[in-house]
Amino acid sequence: MPLLERSAWYDIARDTNWTPKYVEVDELFPPDQSDPYGIPVAEWETFDEPYKVSYREYVSVQREKDAGAYSVKAALARSSYYEDADPAYLSMLKLHYGAIALSEYAACQSDARMTRFSKAPGMRNMATFGMLDELRHGQIQLYFPHQLVSLDRQFDWAHQAHHSKNWAAIAGRHALDDVMMTRDSVTTSIMLNFAFETGLTNIQMIGLSADAANMGDFTFSNLITSIQSDEARHAQIGTPVLEIMVRNGRKAEAQQAVDIAFWRIHRIFAILTGIPMDYWIPLEKRDRSFKEYMTEFVGEQFERQLLDLGLERPWYWDIFLEDVGTHHHCQAAATWAWRNTLWWNPTGNVGPRERAWLEEKYPGWNDTFGKAWDVIIDNLVEGRTERTLPETLPIVCNMSQIPICAIPGNGWNVKDWPLEYEGRLYHFNSEIDRWVFEQEPERYRGHMTLVDRFLAGHILPPDLGGALAYMSLQPGEMGDDAHGYAWVDAYRETRRAAE
Ligand code: MN
Ligand code: MN
Repeated sequence: MPLLERSAWYDIARDTNWTPKYVEVDELFPPDQSDPYGIPVAEWETFDEPYKVSYREYVSVQREKDAGAYSVKAALARSSYYEDADPAYLSMLKLHYGAIALSEYAACQSDARMTRFSKAPGMRNMATFGMLDELRHGQIQLYFPHQLVSLDRQFDWAHQAHHSKNWAAIAGRHALDDVMMTRDSVTTSIMLNFAFETGLTNIQMIGLSADAANMGDFTFSNLITSIQSDEARHAQIGTPVLEIMVRNGRKAEAQQAVDIAFWRIHRIFAILTGIPMDYWIPLEKRDRSFKEYMTEFVGEQFERQLLDLGLERPWYWDIFLEDVGTHHHCQAAATWAWRNTLWWNPTGNVGPRERAWLEEKYPGWNDTFGKAWDVIIDNLVEGRTERTLPETLPIVCNMSQIPICAIPGNGWNVKDWPLEYEGRLYHFNSEIDRWVFEQEPERYRGHMTLVDRFLAGHILPPDLGGALAYMSLQPGEMGDDAHGYAWVDAYRETRRAAE
């Protein structure tokens, strides 16, 4: 049977809007789900995705992708790679799978909302594929690490992390609920497809894939390259949405959605990606620094895409460009200090060679972040490990849900950005987090951070032990230094030599 070229039938096949006779348009497409901006249907019908694919092509390509990733996994299943891997690298996997696997599954809902409620037929079509993509990403990232569950209990914990009251899991859910789960289909597309997927997933997927390949973990490297190839396609849903918004006088609303989502996801990725890249991956295996990745792959590319669409850089762009060189360093020290609240084992890994690299990539590191590590190193060299452990919880940001911290040492700029709203005092880690809250206080006002819950008596006994029990972390699951503090030995030797 002769087949028509795709281009000969594609436009007709996705021209699926009609005029409803038995219900009102607003019943078929409720504005609070479909389009609160009131853009005419005829405008939505101009939605033209840059990447075109038919269902037949889609399933055939996806089958090939799955076959590729699963056969690499099968081929390497008998190797003892994970049994022998660097424990800090395994921590990166525990963090990644805990944070990402079920977030991908959650993204099915975001795409499903566009599939059902979008007034743009082309967008409904693309989002259907996006929904199938996210289902694959959820399944494959639950299946692949399942073999690791028998390695240690933290991999088991990573599977359940998303359902827990662990602070890092709360931080992830708070941001994703805001960006992916609780907005109309147009705003979701701008926030998820454009700000998150177009703007930021390259850092997680391409950056970590390069580091994983350098570490010899071809199973993981192939897995995330396979996922990113889907993201690169369905992320494009956001571009025509933004073009339609800008053309219809909704540039300000579009810009605000971009600015909120980009910052929120950046702050999560600083922990998820920034720390492993600059601290955990062994020096000789590092591809680029987090800052280099963020500047080249995120900053420059995203800026160009924004300007091409007629949007502006986010108002905080200069702060963001500073932040990619600082915030993950703050959180590297903070999360290491609160390591017993994690389901992975961070490593300090700031020996003399690593410090030289950090100083080269981040001039001034020794005078600032290094000063905090100096205190930790002194205590460890003197055998006072207990002084490096926390006795209570840090102050947590009411937006990002992560500890409020900033540059220590000679660059000291630690400050709170408070806001009183309806009689309640909120604390923020930056003026941007506070700005996000101010855009829609009724959305955020009711949420209690882990520390708010602590102070309200929800966590008993009201001490660190109570908090660990609240987060369901048992001995054998709580984090400790991945290398058993071996990275401190170099300092012990230098001091002994100096004596
Ligand atoms: Mn995905
Ligand atoms: Mn996606």
